[in-house]
Amino acid sequence: MQLYLYDNWERQLRLFTPLRHDWIGLYCCGPTVYDYAHIGNLRTYLFEDLLRRTLEFNGHVVRHVINITDVGHLVSDADEGEDKMEKGSRKAGESAWDIAERFTVAFTSDLNSLNMLPPTIWCKATDHIAEQIDFIAAIEQKGFTYITSDGVYFDTSQQEDYGYLARLNRDGIEGGKRVELGEKKHATDFALWKFSPADEQRQMEWDSPWGRGFPGWHIECSAMASKYLEPWFDIHCGGEDHIAIHHSNEIAQNQACHGTRLANYWMHGYFLQIDAGKMSKSSGDFLRLQTLIDQQVDPLAYRFLCLSAHYRSQMNFSWDALEAAQTALGRLRDTYFALPEGGKADSSYVTRFHTEINQDLNVPKALVVMWEVLKSTLNDADKKATLNQFDRVLGLDLANWQPAVLTIPDEVQALAERRRLSRLNKNWAESDALRTEIQGLGYEVEDTAGGMHIRKA
Ligand code: AMP
Ligand code: ZN
Repeated sequence: MQLYLYDNWERQLRLFTPLRHDWIGLYCCGPTVYDYAHIGNLRTYLFEDLLRRTLEFNGHVVRHVINITDVGHLVSDADEGEDKMEKGSRKAGESAWDIAERFTVAFTSDLNSLNMLPPTIWCKATDHIAEQIDFIAAIEQKGFTYITSDGVYFDTSQQEDYGYLARLNRDGIEGGKRVELGEKKHATDFALWKFSPADEQRQMEWDSPWGRGFPGWHIECSAMASKYLEPWFDIHCGGEDHIAIHHSNEIAQNQACHGTRLANYWMHGYFLQIDAGKMSKSSGDFLRLQTLIDQQVDPLAYRFLCLSAHYRSQMNFSWDALEAAQTALGRLRDTYFALPEGGKADSSYVTRFHTEINQDLNVPKALVVMWEVLKSTLNDADKKATLNQFDRVLGLDLANWQPAVLTIPDEVQALAERRRLSRLNKNWAESDALRTEIQGLGYEVEDTAGGMHIRKA
């Protein structure tokens, strides 16, 4: 079946055609590990996990790379200010290496709680300093760089189509002088290598042909993506904020070094908003996955909430919507759990589901197909088998869910047993009265295909 994906380079849906026969290259910009990930960041990784699962559902092998930015991301995208890691280290009173380790572990644990598939390759910027230096040297050799008192810069004026991904109007930026230039020649030029300030001992710094210092942020992704996936691979992802600067600069570096725009498809997850503003790490006011867990929210309820909105639309976070998602997921799990094993997936429903997700990951519509299956006349075992197919993409881990073991008070057990006997004797009036008595004690009895089920009301 044909798969269509929205490519931000061409700004249209494109039929997905792999570049190679053996694997699809998928590179996702990873976290800057100076703080915890917030649930907005996690929405972007959930979109990327959905994309990966959809590619696999279509029979592809995916070589999925996520990087860890543990150095080189300055507090301003315009290459000014401190490195976020050094700043985070001072704030936390721990070494930059220690906070990188601590927040990397926290990040991978969040991905795991959200049932995201681990990438094929994790790569850290600090493990690839040599590759970044080689990449900068190659760009320099092609004549795209200049040196200022604080670093080596990329000269964007040398590229006719610099910023095409963002449909950037360079003349507007230069003319308006909205960006502080410093020693930069053009507002859009960016740092490839920054020199360590003479009066400061940095925790993370390395020797280079240009002097002691550290790499710029954009170069790590060009260097690591080119190394693990080749300089021309299939799909590059990130959040929508990366379009204008980070991804435009990754493309500029690869154009200069390898003559490619790095990836054939550029896909972006749109933002999670909170109170109509964007959730950001630097504002300090953000919700972590752990914040939701502390409020008794199952992480997969957040996953389910994200599935309800298309990745190319912004989503407003609300606790009410999250609670509704948790309730709906609970209903889905209960129903799924009660269905018997041993069925066969229904090919016509699977095809309908597949058609929806292959239209640029249209999960909201695919979910409609899922609820239809539950209401359909398929036999129960086939319903379960069909849901198992859908869950390969949805990632709700239905097959491993178990109802919480509930200790039912003896009194309720005894009433339920009496009710079972009255039903057996077709004594409906007594059975109804016993149900009401059980409800009065805060429990609910349900008569499912698998037998009687008692749960907390
Ligand atoms: P960072 O750790 O800040 O580099 O961000 C990690 C990922 O989260 C990047 O792909 C960002 O584009 C993305 N991101 C940042 N803020 C949000 C948000 N509010 N909603 C969705 N994605 C976001
Ligand atoms: Zn990146």
